[in-house]
Amino acid sequence: MKNDKWWSEGIQFQCQGSGKCCVSRGEYGYVYVTIEDRRKLAKHFKLSTTQFTKKYCNQEAGIWKIRDFTDACSFLKENKCSVYQARPMQCRTWPFWPENMSAKAWNKEVTSFCPGVGKGKHWSAEEIEKQLTLQSKSEDLY
Ligand code: SF4
Repeated sequence: MKNDKWWSEGIQFQCQGSGKCCVSRGEYGYVYVTIEDRRKLAKHFKLSTTQFTKKYCNQEAGIWKIRDFTDACSFLKENKCSVYQARPMQCRTWPFWPENMSAKAWNKEVTSFCPGVGKGKHWSAEEIEKQLTLQSKSEDLY
């Protein structure tokens, strides 16, 4: 089957540790966490999932997210993710989110501020599809 997506030849992207995806961008400023994300983060903090959730999360319209995200994620310390090994799925799959993958959104929401675009690893279309699937499945669990 012909793959006519603009990224069918793949995309070069490698996180440069800029922390720019961890700060609010206009209206967007949320780090959503699934139960799996919360379990992983709780383990990182050596807390039970309930303790972690009470301490670090709040719920909005039935969806759990990291609390106290004002201008940036509360886990961003000195421009670095302080929970990197246990970071939530939405952080792992960045920038390959379904809503970013139109050419217009990619240019507006990703390329314009993320310095990882065009650097390092070349992601094949198949690898990108896998990230998109992981992110979509995660979104279904919010
Ligand atoms: S959890 Fe880490 S990677 Fe994710 S937004 Fe917060 S600081 Fe950034």
